[in-house]
Amino acid sequence: MRPRSVSVAARWFQDNLKAEVFYAVKANPSSWVIETLIEAGVTAFDVASLSEIELVRSVSATARLAFMHPVKGRSAITKAYFDHGVRTFALDSHDELQKILDATGGAKDLNLMVRMAVSADGAAYTLSGKFGVATHDAPSLLLAVRQATVDGLMGVSFHVGSQCMRPSAYEAAMAQVGRAISRAGVFVDIVDVGGGFPSVYPGMVPPDMQEYADAIHRGFNEMPVSETTELWCEPGRALVAESSSILCQVELRKGDALYLNDGSYGSLFDATHSRWPFPVKLVRDGDSAGELKPFRFYGPTCDSIDHMPGPFYLPADVREGDYIEIGMLGAYGVAMSTGFNGYGVHDIAAVEDAPMASLYGLAPRSIPTVRTTAEETARKVVRFSRPKGKAGQRKKSRR
Ligand SMILES: *Cc1c(COP(=O)(O)O)cnc(C)c1O
Repeated sequence: MRPRSVSVAARWFQDNLKAEVFYAVKANPSSWVIETLIEAGVTAFDVASLSEIELVRSVSATARLAFMHPVKGRSAITKAYFDHGVRTFALDSHDELQKILDATGGAKDLNLMVRMAVSADGAAYTLSGKFGVATHDAPSLLLAVRQATVDGLMGVSFHVGSQCMRPSAYEAAMAQVGRAISRAGVFVDIVDVGGGFPSVYPGMVPPDMQEYADAIHRGFNEMPVSETTELWCEPGRALVAESSSILCQVELRKGDALYLNDGSYGSLFDATHSRWPFPVKLVRDGDSAGELKPFRFYGPTCDSIDHMPGPFYLPADVREGDYIEIGMLGAYGVAMSTGFNGYGVHDIAAVEDAPMASLYGLAPRSIPTVRTTAEETARKVVRFSRPKGKAGQRKKSRR
């Protein structure tokens, strides 16, 4: 873990976007991330489940929480409202609106956010397929929510899709949402542009972050809202992607296939299912052959889906026992790790070096191919811990 990269990203959002920042906890639900963000001034969180609410509450009794999942269990809404002080709830249907009103005992201080479906051109992951009220159904829902808002605020939210490579996607989405607001003829207190802010991966170097801020500010200016309307955002990936690497070990080599002790069911979900070739570094004491060759990875479980095609460029003589650092796994990497087949057990070490690539000036914007020694890697460790919970209780560490 590289806490400094989280602080630097948090600063960027606060300094460059004229918006309240809600960190989308699902991108990386580690306590140290939440602690680091709060220290860096990000004290609001986009949560999607009771467990995420409890996690943030275990770190901060006062953090602002927005329950932005458009479909919630009744008891989760009740507990969120009465036990954890959550006042902001998202919805994308009339039935969910009624559920929120019922489950909070007809509370008058709710902030109700209508999640709108928007087009997601330019994003690696679409997030409009499942949630969001369609444009033609939006006016009636916007009206109903405006009428249900008593002492709280009424807002609109959307998500342009994760790893959005086109800043103009925000402007286009805001125009689309603006048209629905005009047709409904409602006043909106909050415009929440959601997440989708990108990070850097091999083959995916996004435009400068400032272009995203500019596009959002332009889009906001054009919306039919008032001077008092608040701008919110919910970045997940962009705050944490640079913040974590994994260090795993080669257990066997067969030609260009390396069998590792982490994989699809661990931190490498996207390397499997989206075939993202995350950046790698050979970590070995002593010499390695100079030439870089493409490798594929296999994870440790018995499932043949546990395969990462890469290509991952490593010195030609990589062998059993070598360690490999795989970078840029802070978002949806370490967060996805399971204990399937008895793997996924790990220790966590805090380091102070630069991430493998950075959109915030901590490292080059594109990914260099490099190598390092185990001794150098060990020297970087400033803090060492074992995660709490099931995995952490095991005696033996696998990586
Ligand atoms: C996942 C999610 C986010 C974060 O998205 P990123 O692409 O990681 O920035 C924000 N808001 C909602 C509602 C989400 O589901």
